[in-house]
Amino acid sequence: MKLRVVVLGAGFGGLELSTILSEKMGDQLDLTLIDRNDSFFFGFSKLDVMFGQKAPEDVRLYYNNIRKLGVKFIRDTITFIDPVAKIVTTQHGTYEADVLVIALGADYDIAATTGLAEGGNEFYSFAGAERLRNALPTFSKGKVIVGVCSAPFKCPPAPSEAALLMHDYLTQRGIRNECEISIVMPFGLPIPPSPDTSKALLKAFAERNINFIPKHFIKAIDPSHKVAILDDETEMPFDLFLGIPKHCVPEVVEKSGMTVNGWIPVDRTNLKTQYPNVYAIGDVNSVGTPKAGVFAEGAAKIAAASIVKEFRDGEQPLPYKGDGTCYVEFGGGQVGKVYVDFFSGPSPFGIYTEASVDLVEDKHQFGSSREARWFNGTPNSAS
Ligand SMILES: Cc1cc2nc3c(=O)[nH]c(=O)nc-3n(C[C@H](O)[C@H](O)[C@H](O)COP(=O)(O)OP(=O)(O)OC[C@H]3O[C@@H](n4cnc5c(N)ncnc54)[C@H](O)[C@@H]3O)c2cc1C
Repeated sequence: MKLRVVVLGAGFGGLELSTILSEKMGDQLDLTLIDRNDSFFFGFSKLDVMFGQKAPEDVRLYYNNIRKLGVKFIRDTITFIDPVAKIVTTQHGTYEADVLVIALGADYDIAATTGLAEGGNEFYSFAGAERLRNALPTFSKGKVIVGVCSAPFKCPPAPSEAALLMHDYLTQRGIRNECEISIVMPFGLPIPPSPDTSKALLKAFAERNINFIPKHFIKAIDPSHKVAILDDETEMPFDLFLGIPKHCVPEVVEKSGMTVNGWIPVDRTNLKTQYPNVYAIGDVNSVGTPKAGVFAEGAAKIAAASIVKEFRDGEQPLPYKGDGTCYVEFGGGQVGKVYVDFFSGPSPFGIYTEASVDLVEDKHQFGSSREARWFNGTPNSAS
């Protein structure tokens, strides 16, 4: 008998989990991987697209290049999840699972921040990054704000990276002296679990004259006066606002009744939900790690090991450590690196590797190794 696994979402978590199960179970596996998109892109490629470093088409990895034993990719929109019966409905079909894995990531609730849709921009969605790519060349002077509207938000270093890359972008265009850059963030430090990374980022901000405004978030935008309103009612005028919108689970997850306080709760050791044989990995859960691809990938490894163990009565997987390595763009052609571990010790800790030109290649390898592993090394093509 083959194990019928249905994986919802072909992002960081879904791709890693499907790859491992194919490797470990091969022809004993009948896995259906469902996503509404035709292609995957790394979160960090949105920064490349926004600042015109790469064309949108060059960062897409097409799902029709996936060739894995026991894995079938279906492009469809999931419309209903029944976690008790383990039945999933899409626009064009119905799928019944022995094991269901929810890996649908986080969506954005733009409307939760008054005025953001009308008066601001966001670079957290691919479409938002593409819009900014076209809008940035028309910006020539004034105040730029990179503002976080709510926590949790994906990839905690991303707002800092956006501000540092904005500095480079404006410098290259010769208009940096006509501009101010500020970051508004709810944390006290840019990367709270790693004081060393935070120190390096604060130094980089100071060297580049970037204002860091900690412990605040953007409550609203007043589009007619071009003013951002902070949680304490402080008003910050802007000419260009780049928002990090409030995050939420995709609507289909909300409708499934699986969420508590907005996210899917899971057993921290194995990523199981309260529903038998239903797992939730990555940004969609509330396991307690930041919302980032490397943590979704780490969770996928643990969930996959647990699925294999229960199918074959194999080895008990080690509990999830909630650890991962994030690269941080410092601008000026340099990349730093921070390893963070959330669950091994009494409190989260991070180890920082100083930004350098060498780590640019490291980050490139990070992406290309996953591309080869998840997409069989096939060239980037839509055909
Ligand atoms: C600007 C930026 C920079 C980032 N940089 C980094 C970085 O350097 N390192 C890092 O580790 N992380 C980074 N991230 C975060 C990273 O992209 C996410 O945390 C990661 O992709 C989460 O993985 P996931 O598998 O949980 O969800 P996702 O990768 O978001 O995948 C979820 C999938 O579900 C699909 N889906 C959702 N709803 C439906 C539906 N109803 N029907 C069908 N399909 C659906 C989506 O199409 C998507 O493909 C960055 C994010 C941003 C925005």
